[in-house]
Amino acid sequence: MGKRIVVLGGGTAGTMVANRLARRLMDLIRSGELEILLITRSGRHVYQPGLLSVVFSEAFPEQIVREEKSLVHRDVTLVFDEIRRIRPDQSCVQSRTTEYPYDYLVIATGSRPDFDGVPGLKESARHFYNLEGALRLRDALASMKKGRILVVVEHPHKGPGAPVEFVLMLDDYLRRRGLREGIQLTYAFSDGRIHFLEPVADWALSQFERRGIAHQPFFRLEKVDPFKQRAFTSDGEEHPFDVLIAVPAHRGAPVVMQSGIGDDRGFIPTDRHTLKMEGDDRVYVIGDAANLPIPKGGSAYYQSEIVAQNLVSRLKGLPETSVYDGKGTFFLGSSLREAGFIAYDYGSFPKFAFGSEVLRWIKDMQGPAYWLKVRAIL
Ligand SMILES: Cc1cc2nc3c(=O)[nH]c(=O)nc-3n(C[C@H](O)[C@H](O)[C@H](O)COP(=O)(O)OP(=O)(O)OC[C@H]3O[C@@H](n4cnc5c(N)ncnc54)[C@H](O)[C@@H]3O)c2cc1C
Repeated sequence: MGKRIVVLGGGTAGTMVANRLARRLMDLIRSGELEILLITRSGRHVYQPGLLSVVFSEAFPEQIVREEKSLVHRDVTLVFDEIRRIRPDQSCVQSRTTEYPYDYLVIATGSRPDFDGVPGLKESARHFYNLEGALRLRDALASMKKGRILVVVEHPHKGPGAPVEFVLMLDDYLRRRGLREGIQLTYAFSDGRIHFLEPVADWALSQFERRGIAHQPFFRLEKVDPFKQRAFTSDGEEHPFDVLIAVPAHRGAPVVMQSGIGDDRGFIPTDRHTLKMEGDDRVYVIGDAANLPIPKGGSAYYQSEIVAQNLVSRLKGLPETSVYDGKGTFFLGSSLREAGFIAYDYGSFPKFAFGSEVLRWIKDMQGPAYWLKVRAIL
């Protein structure tokens, strides 16, 4: 019997790595010596950075959603199933009805905002973390004429630039519609700094001050009253709002917790250079699921390449020589017209360029380019 690589999670990182492997190992797959099995629970693949474009009516939902099966290489075996337990001790993953043994496993189960961590938050808050949320937020903003918008941001969260980007785009959107004067916009965040990357924080602060966006550090949300529309913080203060938009701290996928392989937030302890789950030579972790000391976003493209190269080497009996250096990049819209670009890795201070129409144009190209990247064509 041939070998089997199971990739768990058909989002950005999982689909990329499965496709990269299939393109490079076609011969082994076609001769029956190898199977690449991609297991995911949803047939719908969302280009998540595009959710912000949906909020501001710059994209229609159908532009950011594709069928997963249309993105997967024909030599990948695609299975739709929900995995309940990852069993490294038995070299398999288990769903409610069956189990899938593996020789190598790549976990790419992503992260999710935890709306249950604060009482009343789920009932009160709008968000842009899935398509349904983005559409509801789009409609709420479209019908708003005046009042108070409160954006509450906690860490860690996916989309490293998304909250700052969202509020700057919102400011621009309200100005274009002649509504900005009548709408108070507040960005409240749990830490002392607007963004965890220092250059982004400094730049965002100057933008907020120039545009009259109120900002509130050390905002520790304790509960929300959905009926009175008030947020309560740990210092005993009350914060009234008409629209509350939340970026709650994220957690790893429930299956990670259920399997007992995650840290206290459900992220998997992962070697920062080999991308292997700590203590297991045959399990790799990529994308948001890993507990790496880098932002959640901007790195799946690079990580999937490292893991694909090393798995190809292993299957050919060669040593694994590719090493991940923490590389990640992301664009950050500074208005509906301009954008910035940030690049980081483990070893150096983040590099950045802000506020350019050319970068905005390149950022807008990322949507169409994504469908090529995720298929491992680009
Ligand atoms: C609004 C927003 C803006 C963003 N902007 C950017 C940006 O500008 N640049 C950038 O690089 N990133 C950005 N991101 C982040 C980026 O989308 C994520 O970092 C990326 O999708 C992570 O890929 P992933 O494969 O780790 O997780 P995901 O793409 O979330 O995929 C996880 C997959 O695992 C599946 N899964 C989970 N559990 C199971 C299970 N038990 N069984 C079966 N399947 C399971 C899920 O269904 C999903 O398909 C943004 C995100 C958002 C929401």
